[in-house]
Amino acid sequence: MVELNLTNLGASDAGEGKVHKVLILGSGPAGLTAALYAARAELEPLVLTGMELGGQAALTYTIENYPGFPDGVGGSELGELFQKQAERFGAKIEFDTARAVDLSQRPFRITGENGKYLAETLIIATGASPNHLNVPGEQELTGRGVSYCATCDGWFFKDKKVVVVGGGDSALEEGLFLTRYATSVTVIHRRDQLRAGPVLQKRAFAHEKIDFIWDTVVTEIVGTDKVEAVQLKNVKTGEESTFETDGVFIFIGHTPNTQLFKGQLEMDERGYLKVDSRMRTSVPGVFAAGEAADPHYRQVITSAGMGAAAAIEAYRLLESESA
Ligand code: NAP
Repeated sequence: MVELNLTNLGASDAGEGKVHKVLILGSGPAGLTAALYAARAELEPLVLTGMELGGQAALTYTIENYPGFPDGVGGSELGELFQKQAERFGAKIEFDTARAVDLSQRPFRITGENGKYLAETLIIATGASPNHLNVPGEQELTGRGVSYCATCDGWFFKDKKVVVVGGGDSALEEGLFLTRYATSVTVIHRRDQLRAGPVLQKRAFAHEKIDFIWDTVVTEIVGTDKVEAVQLKNVKTGEESTFETDGVFIFIGHTPNTQLFKGQLEMDERGYLKVDSRMRTSVPGVFAAGEAADPHYRQVITSAGMGAAAAIEAYRLLESESA
């Protein structure tokens, strides 16, 4: 993960008062692909990176299903390639995070940590963040054994026992990654069937270091200075137990990063931005791409595709307005 210390960065050099033709929020696959397309359309896009350069994809150790990389590609490596390609055509990347937006009139007004921005069109590619279990001990022990990113923190668990919570693709993929370091990886899932795809299931079931605890939820994470155990409850029998572990990796889905737009853009009950088939949100001139607007696919390739479409639509709108 590339954590940005925003307090150490100077004021925005992106030119306060300048009206950007295209401003992009987010630097994951959707944001950087939108930047590439907008740059090639000579719209001089400005990307505000958000807190994680490269987005969630950059936290993935290997991406095996992005076409063009038959042997897989590192997540952060792919992010750097996206960025380099967009910059080659003139996209500008600003290490800033939007904190407030005013979409009531154009140009739209965006207030970041470091500066204020005006934009004729806005592409929202703010992605999603990992969900928390919201159980006692989770918050206190985050960074002390509780983690939401195996690629970032797996190394700390060399020769240790870890548990993974969740039954989706992320849980199995990250669990398989953790077998590089940990002596054992126990997947704790609330049902008796996994949600993950068949390839990952097959690999996980075959792996000697991985085992499963079914129909079970974590009710508490126990430890004083670091994680020592999890408190478990079988949802079928109600039986409670304690399971000793050094680490708890939580992969139970994501919530879109769209709180900033509440009351200004239409979204569904889970907070995903509503877009039509042309990436248009409920406000003309505002487009959305990637996981912030996609509850269905959430893949690097689909996010990148949405980013490309959003930039093409921004270009078409600006062209039609200048005609
Ligand atoms: P996901 O598919 O939504 O799976 C979340 C898992 O967490 C589910 O098994 C769910 O259980 C469980 N869960 C949810 N809330 C819980 C709670 N409060 N307590 C305990 N368990 C809880 O999320 P994901 O695995 O992060 O995947 C997100 C998307 O990215 C998916 O579309 C996935 O296909 C994609 N993805 C793909 C790859 C790949 O292709 N290699 C890798 C990673 C992610 P239930 O099953 O009971 O609902």
